[in-house]
Order: sequence, then structure tokens, then C-alpha cells
Amino acid sequence: MGTKFVRVIFPGSFDPITNGHLDVIHRAMGLFDELIVAVGTSPVKNQLFTPQERVEMIAELIRDLPNVSVESFEGLTVHFAARRKANVILRGLRSLTDVQYEFQLAMTNRAVAGIETVFIMTSEQYGFTSSTLIREIARLGGDLSKLIPPSVCERLRRKLASIA
Ligand code: ADP
Repeated sequence: MGTKFVRVIFPGSFDPITNGHLDVIHRAMGLFDELIVAVGTSPVKNQLFTPQERVEMIAELIRDLPNVSVESFEGLTVHFAARRKANVILRGLRSLTDVQYEFQLAMTNRAVAGIETVFIMTSEQYGFTSSTLIREIARLGGDLSKLIPPSVCERLRRKLASIA
């Protein structure tokens, strides 16, 4: 084996990024040479933030991490991985429910593109954090300060005010 350069992509919707996602990024960045956070732009998902807004929020938060970058992509994750010459897909796991879906996704990606997926388990305190719930709680005015960074909280507040 030896000293192969390993570039990993961390794909997801990140609508918006949460402390759970950041936890996975921080844990993973020491394990790989380069990590690209890949913001998917699936047209079927009901998204709150535009891909550009999601990229901006993430860029602010990873500014000081030397081997981490962010960009958005369209289409299949495995095609994006190939374009960036990434060897590995990174996904986060919260619970056994995640495992079932992620297992299927990883097997499919390996079957169609021969790419491996690695998983990192989140810290216990973020095991229940999901972007969907964050959006719901924000709409209802709940306190999210433990679950998302202050900059994301502010963006959510402005976004919801703008569409109210
Ligand atoms: P997707 O729509 O592709 O599931 P998400 O933005 O919801 O995108 O999640 C991206 C990745 O981060 C997925 O692997 C998901 O399981 C993981 N993830 C989401 N929330 C957390 C969390 N709180 N802790 C760890 N991993 C998480």
C-alpha cells in the first residue's frame, strides 16, 4: 500500500450545514489528505437555501481548515467524484436507521462506479441532529444554538424572514 494520496468527497444536501456535519468533517480531515465538501443540487428535494448560499455558509466555517474545501455539483455523486479524482466517498452515521439507507447507497455506488464509501460516526450529542429538523425548529422559533453554528443561525433567521 504505502503513501497513496487520498482525496475524499463528503456529499450531501447541507440545507443547512449542522454541528453534526462539522463534527464529521473535523474527525475526517486528519484521516485523509484532502477533503471536498460536495453540496448536491438535487432538483427533487425541497430545499430552503440555494446551492450557492449553502456553499457560502460552509466556506465560512471551513476557512481555517487547510485541507478542506467546498463546492456544489449537479448530477450523480460518483460522476463528481470521478471529475475530482476522489478515491473515496465519506458519509456520516447517526443511527441504525442511517445504516440501512447508507448501506444501499454505498453498495450501489461501488457497483456502478467502483468507488468505496467510508463512514464516520457522529458524536453522541449530534446523533439526533438533522437538517430537516433544524429547518422545522427554525420555522417555529426554537433555540438552535447547540445544534448549528451562530453564522448558520443568523442566515436561517434572515432566510425565514425573507420568505415569510
Ligand atoms: P443527504 O441529503 O445526502 O442525506 P445531508 O446533508 O442530510 O445529505 O447529510 C450528508 C451526510 O451527513 C450524510 O451522510 C448524513 O448521514 C450525514 N449527517 C447528517 N447529519 C449528521 C449528524 N448529525 N451527524 C453525523 N452525520 C450526519
